[in-house]
Amino acid sequence: MINSDKNNVKNYDLVIVGGGMVGISLALLLAQQQSDWNVLLLEAQAYDNSDNHNNHPSFDSRSTALSWSSRKIFQAAGLWSELESHTSAIKNIHVSDRGHIGLTRISADEAGVDALGYVIENRWIGNVLLKKFTATAVEIMAPERVAKITPLKSGVRLNLEKSGEAVETSLLVIADGANSQTAQKLGIHSDKKPYGQQGIIANIALQDAHNGVAYERFTDQGPMAMLPLPDFDGSPRCALVWTQPPERAAELMTATDKDFLKALQESFGYRMGMVEKVGERVAYPLALTTASEQVRRNIVVLGNAAHSLHPVAGQGFNLSLRDVATLADVLGKAKSAGTDFSSLETLERYQQQQLADQQNTLMFSDNLPKLFAQASSVVALGRNSGLVMMDLLPSLRSRFAKFGMGMANKEAGHGA
Ligand SMILES: Cc1cc2nc3c(=O)[nH]c(=O)nc-3n(C[C@H](O)[C@H](O)[C@H](O)COP(=O)(O)OP(=O)(O)OC[C@H]3O[C@@H](n4cnc5c(N)ncnc54)[C@H](O)[C@@H]3O)c2cc1C
Repeated sequence: MINSDKNNVKNYDLVIVGGGMVGISLALLLAQQQSDWNVLLLEAQAYDNSDNHNNHPSFDSRSTALSWSSRKIFQAAGLWSELESHTSAIKNIHVSDRGHIGLTRISADEAGVDALGYVIENRWIGNVLLKKFTATAVEIMAPERVAKITPLKSGVRLNLEKSGEAVETSLLVIADGANSQTAQKLGIHSDKKPYGQQGIIANIALQDAHNGVAYERFTDQGPMAMLPLPDFDGSPRCALVWTQPPERAAELMTATDKDFLKALQESFGYRMGMVEKVGERVAYPLALTTASEQVRRNIVVLGNAAHSLHPVAGQGFNLSLRDVATLADVLGKAKSAGTDFSSLETLERYQQQQLADQQNTLMFSDNLPKLFAQASSVVALGRNSGLVMMDLLPSLRSRFAKFGMGMANKEAGHGA
């Protein structure tokens, strides 16, 4: 039940700002605890009521490779079986380097798992999560933003932009994406390191079945990934993420479908057979963005607002979902024990638990494209020997596979 004080200001346990993939996931994980949380979610964009959330900034035309750790978390939340029906399982990953001999293959069988990951269109993540979400007691205001944040002796007061209402909350969760406006209002800035590249995404129809193989290809212009998607209208499909310098990206974005497919085939080769059709193309500027602070008394910064990564290793959402699961667990335990769940001590406990995972994942995602971006022949030789060695050494391959699955830091936790 929502409490109101004598000035009719509503009081919540938590206000989550940003109802994208991360904000909604946190609301859902809290809603399935026994702790009776009262939660308000504020989202800047209205959700459409159709089954298609393609136009929503978080649940757009991108696809996400969900890791094993994400599967475990969604499974525990009772969401996996529905999500899984819209995924394509990655059975093998094929890593190669254009113009060089290096090549490695990682297989689910060898790693001893059903799949190395699961590829799903973001609009389906939105569809499944939002359906479940509307059945919870979480209050939602969309479109809405925070105009002003006032720290109180205990909790924070938020003045809302559109409705003009004021609400108070014990814990403010900031999940409004990279370059968070809400964090900036508190003097929390984001450190941005642009990669000087754009990530072009598009769905690609293939002539031949993909057989669950994901391709990661490193070229002199930047890395590219082709991830297996469920068939559409009987045609095999995959999700393309193609990193390019801005000038080349602009050319590819304005090229005709025919010229785009020709350039793609040339760069990617024929490993996946012929590429036949391309869907809508969208380009994202790529940067590593990290928040200067993630926790304060009564405040947590989550998701892209806390760390936004290069998409090549497919780790951004998977890492954030592990953050979300740990945070929900720490908050739930504090509330059941009758301690202050929004105290700095509790929130630092959360941060401490996620620190190694965040540092390792950031480093992995940041270094992978840089390593392959260096054109010098010595590095090319080194990286090829690296790939060849990785193909020969199962233990190295399995470390790479475990990272992709979100198991490297969480052997005993969500990823186990
Ligand atoms: C090309 C590409 C491919 C990717 N592939 C993968 C992958 O395969 N695997 C993976 O794990 N990750 C992947 N990612 C990363 C993943 O998309 C992000 O980690 C994820 O979107 C982060 O979700 P979020 O909810 O934190 O932020 P967002 O998705 O940015 O959502 C933020 C939400 O906040 C709302 N908002 C914004 N401002 C305000 C405000 N002032 N007030 C209220 N609400 C506001 C927005 O409308 C939005 O709904 C990829 C990213 C890109 C760019």
